[in-house]
Order: sequence, then structure tokens, then C-alpha cells
Amino acid sequence: MESTPPDDCSVKVAVHIRPLIGDEKIQGCKDCVTVITGKPQVQIGSHSFTFDHVYGSSGSPSTEMYEECAAPLVDGLFQGYNATVLAYGQTGSGKTYTMGTGCGDSSQTGIIPQVMNALFNKIETLKQQTEFQIHVSFIEIHKEEVQDLLDPCTVNKSDTSSTGHVGKVAHHVPGKPPIQIRETSSGVITLAGSTEVSVSTLKEMAACLDQGSVSRATGSTNMNNQSSRSHAIFTITVEQMRKINTDSPENGAYNECLKEEYLCAKLHLVDLAGSERAKRTGSDGLRFKEGVHINKGLLALGNVISALGDEKKRKDGAHVPYRDSKLTRLLQDSLGGNSRTVMIACISPADINAEETLNTLKYANRAR
Ligand code: ADP
Ligand code: MG
Repeated sequence: MESTPPDDCSVKVAVHIRPLIGDEKIQGCKDCVTVITGKPQVQIGSHSFTFDHVYGSSGSPSTEMYEECAAPLVDGLFQGYNATVLAYGQTGSGKTYTMGTGCGDSSQTGIIPQVMNALFNKIETLKQQTEFQIHVSFIEIHKEEVQDLLDPCTVNKSDTSSTGHVGKVAHHVPGKPPIQIRETSSGVITLAGSTEVSVSTLKEMAACLDQGSVSRATGSTNMNNQSSRSHAIFTITVEQMRKINTDSPENGAYNECLKEEYLCAKLHLVDLAGSERAKRTGSDGLRFKEGVHINKGLLALGNVISALGDEKKRKDGAHVPYRDSKLTRLLQDSLGGNSRTVMIACISPADINAEETLNTLKYANRAR
């Protein structure tokens, strides 16, 4: 990664407003979020925020969000730049819908399915002169522990223990060492002990996404029984060996000279834990503990992103607090530096969610 990315690599922030959904309509909720026409600006009550992009409400197609937010990151991957896309917001705000990490969600509207499509289309056009190796991993961070969603030994068993909600839950196999986040001497972050699946087709990659989505631990709260208190991170690593054919005139004749260039970059696609306050889940002590840990990850992420966005602080070489949580530690080599980051803040337009929506917009605003 010798050069800097072609365009400015700071953090971009988009807002995705979902429509009112069934439950909210039944409860007679009103839409309390206004988008200023022709501007990436959102208003709620007396508050007004400007972001890089605003999607939703008017039913803008999902391809627009992909093209503006994720496509440049996919292009960057082929140039060797790491990147991260984060979906932030309260439970039920549309994070999973936005990322496309839902169970059995074969829809092509989410960011990840579109990334996978674009990736393999691009590989198809380059494979004559470039050899590719693609790996995926899919993990989640729950209560500051890393769990492998692609572990072939993971037992998917029905879990009714704490909530009465039946769901597929990934259980750590006893005796297997826990996954550890490590940093190599050159600053590359690795996940020791996690499954890296080598894939060569779109279908194989989609199967990994599906498998991990099913394994993802879920719990239930009084807000959404598929609610998740974990961060799910789908990572695509692209390794390329490019053969550069340089014809060089030597002794009057042209000698073929073959040079090889190796590039490796990864893209993290993150469906973050629900950002709502623990009290709003109205749950027991266990849930509150989960809430506290998750807030730790989201808090650290907010601090890291705001430190990266603060040009003055960055120039002064200010400390970026990556080590404050597993989430930020894991994303360390893909947030800041030469990498690109897009945060998509997901919000509900319903008046009953106004307080959390305002919190989400404030958090996202800090990231700019
Ligand atoms: P989260 O992952 O933040 O908890 P979900 O992605 O599960 O939220 O979305 C909650 C509900 O809203 C789901 O039923 C989902 O299908 C619906 N939904 C979310 N975003 C949209 C959207 N942009 N258009 C239509 N329905 C949506
Ligand atoms: Mg979700």
C-alpha cells in the first residue's frame, strides 16, 4: 500500500430510513423524520443533521446506496485498500436488512449480496492477467468474546434456556481454544483460531453468508424477538497475484519480462449490535450485562471514528483508542490509515422511536 487512495479516505456517514413497518402502522405511529428535498439532511423535532448521503423515505432504490457507499470500497479492495462498512442503529431499525445478513435472506437488496456480485463480476474481467484467492470469515462479538459463525464443528442446537425463544445458537465447542485477535509486526490484524473459508464462486460465498447468518446467536427482548446484542462481522479477503507483462527493448530486440505484483486487502461488513439503551430492553440482569458489554464496543467505535474524523487531532498524532474493545481492535487495520470506512446509520421513522432515532443521529453526526 504505497500510495494513498485516489479520493479522500475519511469516514463517510449515510443515513438509511426504513419505512413504517406493520407493527408501527397497527399502533398508529406517525412519521417523525423529515428529509430536506435535494439535500442529505434529516430533521427530527427541532434537530437538523447533515450527512454524506440520506436514503429511504422516498423509496430510493437500494442500488443507489450500494453504488455510492460500497462500490468505491470494492474497487479499493482490488487496489489493496482495506475497508469497513458498518450498520449502526437500534434494534428493529433495519441494520440486518441494510447489510443483507438476515437468515435465509436470498434477496439481492442488501449491501453484502451486492458486494459479492460486484466482486465476482470484477474478478471475471481480470482473471486473464490476475490470479485470485478469496477467503471469507464470519464471526460475532458477543459479551466481548469472539465466536466463529463458520466453525464446521459448531453445534447448532435449539436454545430455549433464558428466553423461551427457540433459535439456532452457535455454541462454543469445549476444549477448542477461544479465538484471539492478534497483530502482526507489520500491523496486520488476524483472528487466530477462526475459520477462513476459501471460496472461488459467488455461490460458495453466498453459502457462507447463509450458514453464518443461521448460526448467529439471537435472543429476545420486548422490542424485537430476533434482536441481536452481538456485532456480526462478515469479512472478505482478496489476495491477488498480478502478472505484469512488460516488453522491454534490449539489444534491439523485445524481450518479454514478466513481473509479479502481490496485493492483499480485506473488507469488513459489520452488522452492529442494537444501539438502544439497556433500560429500554426491560430485561433481566443477564441482558443488562450484555447491554453493558455491547455499549463498550459501540462506545469505543464512536470514540475511534470521531478521533479519525478529527483532522486536527489526527495531524497532532492523537491517540486513537482502538484497544478499548474487541470490536475496534479487530477493525484496527481497516479503520483509518489508508482504509475507507462507511457508517450507515439505520433509523425508524416512527414517533415512538424518536428518542433512539435522535441518539442514532447524534452518534452518526459525531462520526463526521
Ligand atoms: P435490525 O437488524 O436493525 O434489528 P431489521 O433489519 O431486522 O432491523 O429490520 C426490522 C424490520 O424492518 C424487519 O421486518 C425488516 O424486514 C424491516 N425493514 C427494515 N428495513 C427496511 C426497508 N428499508 N424497507 C422495508 N422493510 C424494512
Ligand atoms: Mg438485526
